[in-house]
Amino acid sequence: MTFICAPILAGDVESALADARQARAMGADLVEFRVDHLFHGEHDDEGERAVLELVRESPLPCIVTCRPTYEGGDYDGDEASRIALFERLAALGAGAGGTPPRYVDIELAALERSANLRQKALLAVEHPDQPRELATSMILSMHDFKGRPAGLLRTLERMRREPAAKVLKIAWMARSLRDNLEILDLVAERDRPMIALAMGAAGLMSRVLAPKFGAFLTFASVRPAAVTAPGQPTIEDLLTTYRFRAINPATRVYGVIGWPVEHSLSPLVHNAGFGALDPDGPGFNGVYLPLLVAPEWEPLKATLGALVDHERLDFAGGSVTIPHKEHALRFARERSQEGWVVDRIATIAGAVNTLVRLDGPAVRAGAASAPSARWLATNTDAPAVAACARSALGDNLAGRRIAIIGAGGAARAAAAGLAEAGANVSLLNRTMEKCGRLAAELNVALATAGLEAPPISAAPIDDLERTSWDMIINCTPVGMRGGPAPDSLPLDESILDRIGPDTVVFDTVYTPRLTPLLRAARERGLRTIEGANMLVHQAEAQFQLWTGRGSPEGLFARIVRERLNADSGNPA
Ligand code: NAP
Repeated sequence: MTFICAPILAGDVESALADARQARAMGADLVEFRVDHLFHGEHDDEGERAVLELVRESPLPCIVTCRPTYEGGDYDGDEASRIALFERLAALGAGAGGTPPRYVDIELAALERSANLRQKALLAVEHPDQPRELATSMILSMHDFKGRPAGLLRTLERMRREPAAKVLKIAWMARSLRDNLEILDLVAERDRPMIALAMGAAGLMSRVLAPKFGAFLTFASVRPAAVTAPGQPTIEDLLTTYRFRAINPATRVYGVIGWPVEHSLSPLVHNAGFGALDPDGPGFNGVYLPLLVAPEWEPLKATLGALVDHERLDFAGGSVTIPHKEHALRFARERSQEGWVVDRIATIAGAVNTLVRLDGPAVRAGAASAPSARWLATNTDAPAVAACARSALGDNLAGRRIAIIGAGGAARAAAAGLAEAGANVSLLNRTMEKCGRLAAELNVALATAGLEAPPISAAPIDDLERTSWDMIINCTPVGMRGGPAPDSLPLDESILDRIGPDTVVFDTVYTPRLTPLLRAARERGLRTIEGANMLVHQAEAQFQLWTGRGSPEGLFARIVRERLNADSGNPA
């Protein structure tokens, strides 16, 4: 079992103990008291008494760490006093009538500073040559806050040569997702219990997947502000979102590849779906992570290559979001000799938002049914737009007149999905030249795919009121919170008074749920479709491809709606 340890930066005894009790209530197994602020070194009797009290009263087995400044902590007192504190703590269990800490964390750098210090440190912990009976063991640690340590493997070798080290801990600041893979390999190849963590936003994988690789523990804080290392999740994140207790060596790994990805709703939705598949059992054995990959082709190529080629990781599928949808298409095409198949809709859309490893429960669909196919690269955005359109216009979209505003990635997916479904699509955009180019490209793609769809036309935005439309879709970021024009509409509002009463208005923007365009349309009694519906449809299709099963009825819609309402402060 991999423990959850709540690190607590102890400012004073009372609040540190309150946090420890909260950690226990939330489901942590251990606490780590970081006492760098409580104990100041030589002659700090008060500090020492505070640490002893903390350990005595701890509601959970504890680790005591007094991290020196040279290792990224705040303790700037002398080393002899710090080690003497550990000796005093160990003595709590050696006849002093108390419960000693289960572990003390001592840095490799400290032990290597002087033979004398090392000898003293060994007096404070249990080890094969320890004459006393002690209940405190040593976690031997090494941290690098800048990046992967130079000489990592040699350092690890020196750590392994320390017989008193019960647990080895290694942590460094992740520069990219690939650091996690090396860290998880170190855990898999451990010679004794090991904690290995990638710090920073790119390091979440190493923390969440700790049980899959058999790590001794992972750190998780009681609340977001209480993190002691960058990138640390909260206990709630770990247990509720990532279903940490259900992760084991056989767990398949999924995730959303993008930049940024920390605000993506996909981990919430897919992890909940995995957990809900079998309400009486452990659910689907998968976990879904945010996978931060720097923009540009090279990082995507290197990282996605590392993920799919890493056998131990068991990466079985992914969502791909901005800015990597076109890169993912290129990646899949470059790997066509290795069994990567790009299906028709992704080819027409010129973008991939879904990767599916074709084994186990995955559905082998369309072009991917070739026996040699190993991975399917597809696009669920395009059919999601068509599904939204069908929900308002009926199953048959053939001949329906649909105006798409915009000429970027969302417009491209929408046009591809609707044209494939037989609709009469027009692209309208502020920059006419851009939508003209996109329409021409899409028409070539449709013809190459052998589809006899009506050609997609392009027009300036002012043409919106010259024709009557069954549906108008906004595929620009206008109206999006934090976007270029959050309070605006992508069309002249008065047009909504002149379009027919049966025209449906669909906004792909989903933050906020009710955009200025949707509000204005509703005020005029027009039917509307929220961008959240598209998000839900595309996620449901991905889930089906990965698990071979439908997501629980209404679950994704409920989670997305709740989260978007919470973000807008709107309880409705
Ligand atoms: P994009 O590639 O950056 O395209 C932006 C398009 O919007 C361009 O055609 C641009 O016109 C136009 N535009 C930008 N700012 C404008 C402004 N102030 N006034 C008028 N036109 C403007 O973006 P994208 O990836 O297509 O995404 C667009 C939106 O789609 C996003 O904001 C997102 O909310 C939404 N989306 C939703 C989902 C979903 O699941 N619901 C999925 C994907 C995207 P020019 O060509 O003239 O520059």
